[in-house]
Amino acid sequence: MNYDVIIIGAGPGGIFSAYELSLQNPNLKVAVFEAGHALSKRHCPIDGDKIKSCINCKTCSIMSGFGGAGAFSDGKYNITNDFGGTLHEYIGKEKALDLMRYVDEINMRYGGEGTKLYSTAGSKFKKQCIQHNLHLLDASVRHLGTDINYVVLENIYDYLKDKVEFFFDCPVTRVVKTDGGFEVCTEKDTFTCEKCIISVGRSGSKWMEKVCSELGIETNSNRVDIGVRVELPAEVFSHLTDELYESKIVYRTEKYADKVRTFCMNPKGAVVNENTNGIITVNGHSYEDPEKQTENTNFALLVAKHFSEPFKDSNGYGESIARLSNMLGGGVIVQRFGDLIQGRRSTPSRIEEAFITPTLKATPGDLSLVLPKRILDGIIEMIYALDKIAPGTANDDTLLYGVEVKFYNMEVDVDENLESCHKGLYVIGDGSGITHSLSHASASGVYVARKIAAN
Ligand SMILES: Cc1cc2nc3c(=O)[nH]c(=O)nc-3n(C[C@H](O)[C@H](O)[C@H](O)COP(=O)(O)OP(=O)(O)OC[C@H]3O[C@@H](n4cnc5c(N)ncnc54)[C@H](O)[C@@H]3O)c2cc1C
Repeated sequence: MNYDVIIIGAGPGGIFSAYELSLQNPNLKVAVFEAGHALSKRHCPIDGDKIKSCINCKTCSIMSGFGGAGAFSDGKYNITNDFGGTLHEYIGKEKALDLMRYVDEINMRYGGEGTKLYSTAGSKFKKQCIQHNLHLLDASVRHLGTDINYVVLENIYDYLKDKVEFFFDCPVTRVVKTDGGFEVCTEKDTFTCEKCIISVGRSGSKWMEKVCSELGIETNSNRVDIGVRVELPAEVFSHLTDELYESKIVYRTEKYADKVRTFCMNPKGAVVNENTNGIITVNGHSYEDPEKQTENTNFALLVAKHFSEPFKDSNGYGESIARLSNMLGGGVIVQRFGDLIQGRRSTPSRIEEAFITPTLKATPGDLSLVLPKRILDGIIEMIYALDKIAPGTANDDTLLYGVEVKFYNMEVDVDENLESCHKGLYVIGDGSGITHSLSHASASGVYVARKIAAN
C-alpha cells in the first residue's frame, strides 16, 4: 500500500510521468490510479445502430481509461509553444520544445515510426493568409492518426505494466497531506506515497477543484472556447492539409475585434460526440490508414471567452450553452451554412439533399438559437475569410455542428517545478489548466518525473 510515487490519471501526462520515472529510477515503487478502464476494455457503446447517442456510462470510454482523453484522438502531437498550453511560461520555451521533441522520439520508438511530421516552416500559405487578414501559427505537427496512436499506447503499456502498478476502474476520491507525504484514498482502500503527481485531465476538472479547495491550493479561472465544428469536402482544404496537415489560423473579427481560430483539423476525418461531465459536445478525429478515411475534412472554429469579475465561471458559461444545444437537439445539432445565413433551421431533408454526407449523426436544427450572437457573428465572418484562401468554405452545404466547447480547467497554482504549495505534490497536464494538448501534457509528465528522479 506504500509507494514512492503515486500518479493519479493515466492520460498522456500520467503515462509519460510513469515512463520517465521507470527510466530515470527503476528502483522507485510507482502506482498509477485511473478512473477508467484498461485500454483493451475501452469501448464506447454508441454503434450507430442499436445505440445511437450517448447513454452516459459510469466512466466515459472516450475520455477516460489508459491513454486518457487522447486514446481515440487524432494523435496530433503539435510541437510548438504557440498553442496547446502555456507550459513554456513555467519551464522556459527551449525546455518545453525539447521535451515535446523527446516525447515525439518515444512515440516513434513505440510504433509511430513512418508517420509524417508536417511543418509550417517556409510555407507559402503564411503569405496567402496574411493577405486576407488571417494568421497562420508556427508549428510542427506529428500526425499519428487514431489507429497508430492506439498502437503506440498499447506498446507503451506493454513496456510499463511490469514496472509500474496500475489500478484501473479505481477513481481516487481524496488526497490528504500527511507528515511524510500523502494519503491517496479510493472507494475501497487508502494508499500512501512520498510524492504524488495529479494528472486528471479535463474529465477530472471538478474533482481537481475539490482537491484544491480541501488542500488550500489556489486556483485561477481560465477561459472557455465556444464554437462549431465545420465539415466540408476534403478537396476544399486539401492544398493546406496536404502540406501542413493541420493549419492553426487566427482571425480578428471586424465587428467586435474578437479572435476566432481554427482548431483540431482532421483531413478526411470524422466528426464525433464528446461527453464532458454528461454534456454532449462535438469533436473530430481522423485515421492514418487510407481505408478508414472519409471524403470530408473537419475542423473547429472557436472563440475564447474569459470571465473574471463578478462572474468567474467561464466553464459554467460554456456548459450552459452546450446544455442548450443538448436540450434543443437531444445532443449535437447540425446545420448547413446556407440555412444559417438564410435564417432557417436545417431539416433532415435539407441535410439529405446536400452534396456532402455528414460523418456524425446529429439533429438538424438551428445554431442561431443556441450560440450567442457575438460568437456566431465571429464564426460567420471567419468562414467568409477562410473562403478566400480555401474557396468553397462558405458554400451552402458546408456543415456546422454545434456546439464545440473546449473547457479548460481552473489554473492550479504551481511553481516552476509544477509543484504545488505542498512539497511533493505535483499537478500536471490538462488537469492543471496549464496544458491543453497531447504534446504539452506529455511533456509536463516527463518534466516532473525528471524532477522527482533528480531528488
Ligand atoms: C476526441 C478528442 C480528440 C483530441 N485530439 C487531440 C489531438 O489530436 N491533439 C492534441 O494535442 N490533443 C487532442 N485532444 C486533447 C488531448 O486528448 C488532451 O489534451 C490530453 O489527453 C491531455 O492529457 P492529460 O493526461 O492531461 O489528461 P487526460 O488525457 O484527460 O487524462 C486524464 C485521466 O485521468 C483520469 N482521472 C480523472 N479523474 C480521476 C480520478 N479522480 N482518479 C483517477 N483517475 C482520474 C481520467 O479518467 C483520464 O483517463 C483531443 C481530445 C479529445 C477528447
